[in-house]
Amino acid sequence: MLELSTPLSSISGVGPRFLQKFKKLSIETVRDLLWHLPARYEDFSAITNIADLAPREECTVRGIVKKLEMRRAWRKRMFILEGVVEDETGAVRVVWFNQTYIRNVLGEGTPVNLSGKVSVSKDGELYFSNPTYEVPSKYGKETKHTGRVIPIYPETKGLTSKGIRYIIQPILERIGNIEETLPNEIAKRFGFPPLSESIHTVHFPDSIEAGIAARKRFAFEDLFLLQLFLLKERMRVKKERAHAVPTDIDGIKKFLGTLPFELTQSQKKSLWEILKDMEAPAPMNRLLQGDVGSGKTIIAAAAAREAARAGFQTAFMAPTEILAHQHYETMRKIFARENIGIALLTGSDARASYGDGLETTMKKSDLTREVAKGALSVVIGTHALIAESKTKKSVPFALLGLVVVDEQHRFGVRQRAKIIEPDEHGYAPHFLSMSATPIPRTLSLTLWGDLDISLISELPKNRKPIITKVVPPEDRMNAYAFIRSEIKKGRQAFVVCPRIEPATNSEHLTTKEYEMLQIKSVTEEYEKLSKTIFPDLAVAMIHGKLKAAEKEKTMREFSANKTNILISTAVIEVGVDVPNATIMMIEGADRFGLAQLYQFKGRVGRGEHQSYCMLFSDSSSDTTRKRLLSIVEAKNGFELAERDLALRGPGQFVGNEQTGMPDLAMNALRHPEATKDARDAAADILSKDPSLKKYPALKTRLADLTRKVHGE
Ligand code: ADP
Ligand code: MG
Repeated sequence: MLELSTPLSSISGVGPRFLQKFKKLSIETVRDLLWHLPARYEDFSAITNIADLAPREECTVRGIVKKLEMRRAWRKRMFILEGVVEDETGAVRVVWFNQTYIRNVLGEGTPVNLSGKVSVSKDGELYFSNPTYEVPSKYGKETKHTGRVIPIYPETKGLTSKGIRYIIQPILERIGNIEETLPNEIAKRFGFPPLSESIHTVHFPDSIEAGIAARKRFAFEDLFLLQLFLLKERMRVKKERAHAVPTDIDGIKKFLGTLPFELTQSQKKSLWEILKDMEAPAPMNRLLQGDVGSGKTIIAAAAAREAARAGFQTAFMAPTEILAHQHYETMRKIFARENIGIALLTGSDARASYGDGLETTMKKSDLTREVAKGALSVVIGTHALIAESKTKKSVPFALLGLVVVDEQHRFGVRQRAKIIEPDEHGYAPHFLSMSATPIPRTLSLTLWGDLDISLISELPKNRKPIITKVVPPEDRMNAYAFIRSEIKKGRQAFVVCPRIEPATNSEHLTTKEYEMLQIKSVTEEYEKLSKTIFPDLAVAMIHGKLKAAEKEKTMREFSANKTNILISTAVIEVGVDVPNATIMMIEGADRFGLAQLYQFKGRVGRGEHQSYCMLFSDSSSDTTRKRLLSIVEAKNGFELAERDLALRGPGQFVGNEQTGMPDLAMNALRHPEATKDARDAAADILSKDPSLKKYPALKTRLADLTRKVHGE
């Protein structure tokens, strides 16, 4: 009897070539294989008369083996089994390569079904090559490969569905009862048949509908498992210790009073939720979600202030140096009268400001020492601040109380888990992540189901909706004229250059070569705009390869309105905040993802001035138009996210930065409708049996998943 844990390598009939290919699909055990579910099904249930076979069509014939001979091909180790199958209407030749075992099943006079694509020889003869075969009588009336619905699997090079079926079918025959993973009550609630039955149905259903229904069970199971994992993570974090940070109500009110604006209702509510969390002696694990420009930074700053007042340090991490820099400048302003020491620490920059408004640039090692002494309360940097890499150790904080991660969507579960690991005294920092990527609820439940969520649901009152247009090429000059008129009024503009894709798929560019292309496009655009179109205006450019100091100077001058137009690569995608800039012009807009375009658009409309977003594209195809129009039409990021999800599917939407998230999650996302059910079911089970004592099979699977996510 086979077990789920049996390695495929110990099963006779699965040769090394198969093993290697399965490995590419991450299939190493019987379990992996049986859970390699069909992507779709094909209906071979109709039987074709041999006389009616048509070239290159998928057909099933039913006949009697008339002849069967084995030869050895000129190439050694290649065995060819050749035969003829006949029905009342005619006969057809059939060949199998290297499948000598078929001789044990088929012989002259055996009834047989053959399914597969009809091949055509050089001289026009129709024949079957490596068809799926089956002896109908062997399993009673039931057939597994032919004359029925057959499964089509996700394939890899050299491993076809046919091959996978050949391996799976006998294993399914030999597998014993498979232990149920879904708790009984849940299977019942959703009407799922037992696992053993479902696994047979999903591979060899009686009808396409039955197959699809069985697949639903597996999708649900994945979602359920994922939710169990996320809820367990959440329980684990809640059990850890953290330093309680008392809220100084009067102090925070006074502090908020010094800002040039009043917080919106949802900003206030979010801040309150955060401060409440931090008051507890267990670590906060919260996501602050809010549309671009909704004002997340100030909320995080207020939380950092409270931590500092209570004597704890904050690590504030941004995805880019440009953004880290901007946050540093913002906080310097915000904390000018607060007597809170802040520092900027990035790959290329180390400076500190001790709350007296003065700034000191210092050696990185000196700054690190200051941080280790606890002399600086808020340290702003990139992810390197905390994430330990092979070459660099993370910064040694004296008393880390709060970790803020901006633009959370670039951060996976694994990295998060690393951050909230307790220190040597057993204390974990409070954790606040922020994201502007508007994620539909089901998606965020799946990706961040281990986090509590605060939502900033409104924009500050002073904002006007951004006027967004897809500009046809013939209106380009008008667009430039419009930019000029806005600049005359004192406003500023961004011009984003298109992402450059290699011309052909075979052109594998290294990151460096790719960057060079990007820079070339920015430089060319810069030449054109600064010399030909706007020679009288101050035009600047920025891209990833500039030295940090140059980037910083360029951004500083743009922020101070010393330059009118900033030409850029996608480096300004997230977070950049220059409220006086009112025009976002995007070249080659079709080459960016919707979420990314939405982020670009979010660079304007951040102040009281009317703002504009202009999308240019070389492609006039229907799909392109549709995609770009969704940027124009979507009223907010959430609406857009739903569309993007529908247009491109979840993988594309989240992007491949979503490291640490198992494929499981990505697959599960294809069934958003079941996410909520799975969540509720998982919460239900955990509330009754937190350690899953009653569900050993489930427990094992959960342990596997946890190991995978944490990269052990
Ligand atoms: P995001 O949520 O995209 O990170 P930011 O925190 O960068 O947005 O805020 C965008 C701009 O809005 C900043 O210039 C900030 O100072 C300003 N801002 C934040 N909150 C308010 C508010 N309640 N009223 C007016 N302006 C605000
Ligand atoms: Mg931001």
